[in-house]
Amino acid sequence: MAGADRCLFCRIASGEIPAKKVYEDKDVFAFHDINPQAPTHVLVIPRRHIPSLDDLSLSDAATVGTTLVKVAQIARDLHLNSDGYRVVANHGDAAGQTVFHIHFHLLGGRNFGWPPG
Ligand code: AMP
Ligand code: ZN
Repeated sequence: MAGADRCLFCRIASGEIPAKKVYEDKDVFAFHDINPQAPTHVLVIPRRHIPSLDDLSLSDAATVGTTLVKVAQIARDLHLNSDGYRVVANHGDAAGQTVFHIHFHLLGGRNFGWPPG
């Protein structure tokens, strides 16, 4: 697992590695997924390095809560809210997590099946 210094998403949020930015503020960074799974596929991350959901404790509640509120704000800004959208957070191998910096996938622009694959 990458430490914060080598973490891909930390390096994207700092501007060290380029990405198609959607939104940023002092706490949160959002950018288009490089391998989109829907017409709109944005990754929304806290700037603070937290590897995964399994690492969360109550002291992270403000960080994660702020990030999720920004997901909803970005969904409104991209006009995904009227038709609907999906938010996904993968943890671990069974869910297919590949980047160990906590992130929310914001997916929109098509219909989504349930249960998910
Ligand atoms: P997960 O599988 O939930 O860990 O999601 C990681 C996501 O990061 C995948 O959807 C990848 O397509 C995406 N991804 C990996 N590298 C980059 C990158 N350099 N820029 C944008 N998205 C990326
Ligand atoms: Zn990181």
